[in-house]
Amino acid sequence: MVRTKIIRVNSDNPEEEKIVVAANVIRKGGLVAFPTETVYGLGANGLDGEAVRKIFVAKKRPMDNPLILHVSGVDMIEEIAEVNETARKLINEFFPGPLTLVMRKKDVVPPEVTAGLDTVAVRMPSHPVAIKLIEMSELPIAAPSANLAGKPSPTKAEHVIEDLYERVDVIIDGGATDIGVESTVVDTTVYPVEVLRPGGLEVERIQEVVDIRIFSKSVDTPKSPGMKYRHYAPDARLFVLTGKREEIVEKITQLAEDFSKKGFRVGIAVTDPTPYKKMDAVVKEMGTSAEEVARNLFDVLRELDRHADIIIAEGIEERGIGLAVMNRLKKASDSRIFRV
Ligand code: AMP
Ligand code: MG
Repeated sequence: MVRTKIIRVNSDNPEEEKIVVAANVIRKGGLVAFPTETVYGLGANGLDGEAVRKIFVAKKRPMDNPLILHVSGVDMIEEIAEVNETARKLINEFFPGPLTLVMRKKDVVPPEVTAGLDTVAVRMPSHPVAIKLIEMSELPIAAPSANLAGKPSPTKAEHVIEDLYERVDVIIDGGATDIGVESTVVDTTVYPVEVLRPGGLEVERIQEVVDIRIFSKSVDTPKSPGMKYRHYAPDARLFVLTGKREEIVEKITQLAEDFSKKGFRVGIAVTDPTPYKKMDAVVKEMGTSAEEVARNLFDVLRELDRHADIIIAEGIEERGIGLAVMNRLKKASDSRIFRV
């Protein structure tokens, strides 16, 4: 058990005297959870294998699932990875932002970060708190999402506290994250590049800059080890329904009533809660645009998990950030996705 210090900061303009406390913890080999524009990360000194091991222990994460190294500038990328022409293009276009590039690693990167692979995943976050923390640490920070392994990723400091209180040294509270789903992970060691995980940066935008390998829409069988575990999942059983709006409403209502009659507590996650107002279920609104759904998705799943044994979620179109949303719902539901 660790004594956890919670530091509340101004997320737009983080106070240096607060961030330096966290940066010193990183420099001494400790663990710091911090906000990024995608989700909260759980960080450690990315060049120190022993520090990185603590991340796996705190999260109960399998050691064969590699981490992302977070950097604050291009110089730092050159120190840890071989940047080829494709990677350079993507860096120029999209860094800082919700894009992670897999590149050949340099020797300074310990095997704990890469799960023994000869490649390393690198991202430059755009969140002022994340950038400031990396700058003041003067180190690349290895960080997966700051949740217990398998759980929905944290988009608020409260989620991190729920999962990791007394398991990490510092939690920086910078409010709710903006994008709400993790970064898009792209393998730049092959051409056309391969999307290993859809995320905050739309693949349609990446496609405007480099060729990408055709992949199954739901991205089921990539080579990224992180993809083989059940992920992002609430404890409740999750069902996802997609299709025409009116038919979905009918189907969700029917399914909810069936489960409710059998004595289950039912939670419903939908774009518009109006048609479900009178139901014997906890109803949560995710918002109407794909961006809003992405932002609210994990918070809604966590919230419903507190009240329900069965969660029924409305799927959205697999376009733009909707591709990432559906990828998370698919994994969280063990593929219980039904087209109505
Ligand atoms: P998370 O731990 O939730 O931040 O996710 C990190 C993601 O990046 C996982 O899907 C990892 O499998 C992926 N990843 C990290 N490093 C590599 C790598 N060297 N090669 C392929 N995928 C990677
Ligand atoms: Mg994660």
